[in-house]
Amino acid sequence: MNSFKIDYNHLSVADMFKLGVGPSSSHTVGPMLAGWMFGTYIIKEGLLSKTEYVQIDLYGSLALTGKGHVTDVASIVGISGNRPDNVDSNKIPLLIDEMRSNKTINFMNKKIIPFVESTHLVWHFDEFLPAHPNGIRFSVFDSKGKMIVAKEYLSVGGGFVVEGGNIEAENITDHNINPKHPYHSAEELLEICDKHKISIVQLQKENELAWRSEKETNKFLDSIIDTMFSCIDNGIKNTGELPGGLGIKRRAPELHDNLLKNSAISHIDPLTVLDWVNLYALAVNEENAACGKVVTAPTNGAAGVIPAVLKYYKVFCKGTKQGMRDFLLVAGSIGTLYKKRASISAAAVGCQGEVGVACSMAAAGLTAVLGGTNMQIENAAEIAMEHNLGLTCDPIAGLVQIPCIERNTMGAVKAINATRLSLKSDGKHFVSLDECIETMRQTGADMQDKYKETSLGGLAVNTVEC
Ligand code: SF4
Repeated sequence: MNSFKIDYNHLSVADMFKLGVGPSSSHTVGPMLAGWMFGTYIIKEGLLSKTEYVQIDLYGSLALTGKGHVTDVASIVGISGNRPDNVDSNKIPLLIDEMRSNKTINFMNKKIIPFVESTHLVWHFDEFLPAHPNGIRFSVFDSKGKMIVAKEYLSVGGGFVVEGGNIEAENITDHNINPKHPYHSAEELLEICDKHKISIVQLQKENELAWRSEKETNKFLDSIIDTMFSCIDNGIKNTGELPGGLGIKRRAPELHDNLLKNSAISHIDPLTVLDWVNLYALAVNEENAACGKVVTAPTNGAAGVIPAVLKYYKVFCKGTKQGMRDFLLVAGSIGTLYKKRASISAAAVGCQGEVGVACSMAAAGLTAVLGGTNMQIENAAEIAMEHNLGLTCDPIAGLVQIPCIERNTMGAVKAINATRLSLKSDGKHFVSLDECIETMRQTGADMQDKYKETSLGGLAVNTVEC
C-alpha cells in the first residue's frame, strides 16, 4: 500500500486551490468527482441504455472514515451528475432523502435506476486497493445482473482523482505544458530566480502564462480570494451544532461577538490579533465540517489555514488586492513542490501533508507579500513544515471536526510565526525546504496506518464519544 507515485511534469497554482464542498477533499470532493467521471464515461461509451443498476465499492480509508467524511453521499451525488465545483450543496440533503425513500437514483440526471444503499454501496473496511489507501470502484450491470464495466479511481489528496494510471484526470491543468521556468524543487526555484534576478512572484506569474492569460489568472485568483472570504463570513454567521452526532457547537459566531464587544479594550491585549486569526480559521473549518462551500487549499481538512493568514494580511497588514494575488501565487508555488515531491493526502502521510502543507504554503505567501526575499520565503516555508513533521491524522468518529477545526487555528498562527522568524533573519538556514519535504515524505511512509486517516488510532480511539 501507499506505493503510488505520480510524476507530474508541471503543476499550476490552479491545481492547489479548487472550489469544493466539505468536509474532505480526498473523501468528499474526490469521490464526488470520481462518480461524475464514471457516469460521464458510461454516457460517452453509449452504455447508459444497457445500465440497469450501479454498485459503488469503497476501500481502505474511504471506508474507514467514509461515514464521517460523507464519502457515501459524495459518490452518490457524483453519479447523479454533479461535480464538486458546481454542485449546489443546499440541494444535496434533498437528493439523498429522495434516494432513500424511493430507493432509486437519477443516474447522471438521465436515467432513474434502482439504488438500495445496503446492497449497492459496499464498505470494504479491511481491504485496500493496492496502489493507494483511498480507493473507489464503480460498476454498472445489465438487466441479467452481468457486469458491463467497472472502473477504479484513486482519490490521491486535495481533490485530485486518478483513474487507473491515468494522471490526466478531470481536475488537473495540462501538466505536459511547459511553463517558462520549469522547476521541480525549491533549490531549482531559487536558482532560476537568482539567474533571472526575479522574485518567486514574478516567476510564478510568468509560468502561469503557459496555461492562461494574466487577466484570466487574476480572475481565477480573485474568485479564490472571494470564496475564501465568503466562507469566513458564512462561518461567522451560521450558528448551531455541526452535523455528525458529536454535538460540537460552532464557536466562530460567539468568538466574533465577543471580539466586537471587547474591541474598545483590545489595545491592552496585544495578542487580540491571534483571536482574530483563530476566528477566521474556525469559521472556515466549521463551514467545511458542515459540508459548506470552501476552497480546497490544498485540502478541505486544512482549508482554514490559508484564508486565515490571507485575511490577517488584509486586515492587519493593510494588504492590497495585488498583494493577495501574489500571496496565493507564492503559496501555490510552494504547494506544488509538496504535491510533486511528497503528498498532500493524510491517508498517505498523515496531517503533516494537510495542515502542515497549508501552514508551509501560508508562511511562504505571507513572507513574500511582507517584503521577504526569495531565500526568506523558502526559509519560512521550511520552518512551518519542520514544526509540523510527524503530525498524525486521527479524527474522532471520522468527522473532520476534532482535532481538525482547532488544528487549523494552530496552522495559521504557526505560519505567521514562521514568517516572523524568517523575516528577522537573512534567510540562511540549516535545513533546506527540499530536505524538509523529503523528511515529511519519509515520516509519512514510516507512520503506522492507524494514524493516517483511518480513525483507528490516536484521539479517535482514546476519546469517549458521548
Ligand atoms: S486530522 Fe488533519 S488530516 Fe486528518 S482529517 Fe483532520 S485536518 Fe484532515
